[in-house]
Amino acid sequence: MKLIKRFLKEKKMYDDNNIFAKILRKEIPCQIVYEDEFSLFFNDINPQAKIHVLAIPKVPCIDFSDFVTKNNPEVISSFFLSVEKVVSKLGIRKTGFRIVSNSGSDGGQEVPHFHLHILGGEKV
Ligand code: AMP
Repeated sequence: MKLIKRFLKEKKMYDDNNIFAKILRKEIPCQIVYEDEFSLFFNDINPQAKIHVLAIPKVPCIDFSDFVTKNNPEVISSFFLSVEKVVSKLGIRKTGFRIVSNSGSDGGQEVPHFHLHILGGEKV
């Protein structure tokens, strides 16, 4: 199993069994905040702020670069416009928020499906 994970990482292949892929297939439950054709937003299981929502596109993509280089502009813009929609829905547009995307091992990425952390509801 460890060997397979290393192979996938080195080859930069999408791991269909990562936890967010399972969430997208509804094999694992999550607290949905918003969902549309291209994206899913749900509460982080280990929140680092009063509001900590994860945003994931529904296409298989490992990280930020993978997402923006392998998808058409409609998918990419739809995802980021949905982020804006959710920021508004969460009521944090005026008070402020932080959006973070960890990428790769130096970036501290744990789940190899591109995601944004949306943090707010207090000073972060
Ligand atoms: P990262 O380190 O950027 O890959 O972040 C992964 C995030 O996913 C962490 O903040 C975890 O708390 C969160 N996480 C892991 N499993 C789940 C889950 N089943 N439901 C919601 N959030 C999760």
